[in-house]
Amino acid sequence: MPGAEEPAGRAALQRRRVVDFALRRRGVLAELQAGGLSLREVCDADMYLQRAAGFHGETTETVCPVCRKENLTEVSWVFGDDLGSSSGSARSDEEIAQLALTHDQFTVHVVEVCRSCSWNHLVLSYEVGLPEGTGRRTRRAARELRHRP
Ligand SMILES: [Zn+2]
Repeated sequence: MPGAEEPAGRAALQRRRVVDFALRRRGVLAELQAGGLSLREVCDADMYLQRAAGFHGETTETVCPVCRKENLTEVSWVFGDDLGSSSGSARSDEEIAQLALTHDQFTVHVVEVCRSCSWNHLVLSYEVGLPEGTGRRTRRAARELRHRP
């Protein structure tokens, strides 16, 4: 099992192509305040997103900017060819670290959700994972290591 201590592991966990959507988020909130957007348009987290927030979300220190009733929850979604059926699913930070150590680079979208009013917005995207084409080899090596008597 490749550990985070190995150089390859560290590189896999290193966040790349990080995009912060704070500016766009502020724009949406300003437009909402100005009346250019309705609550219904921005507080539209569906049941799937709400459920993911409940199971895989990490509670933040940030109070919901819309209803101010509770702290926001951040949900991370993973997308990548090498992830197979896991692509498009919500994952905890721990699971993302495990996936990053055993799969080709993939994209993570972090979405903040208010479980009270359903406000939601993309806050961050980044890439983690192994160099393209090495995930399958790494997984096979890990399997062989486990099956060795
Ligand atoms: Zn809210």
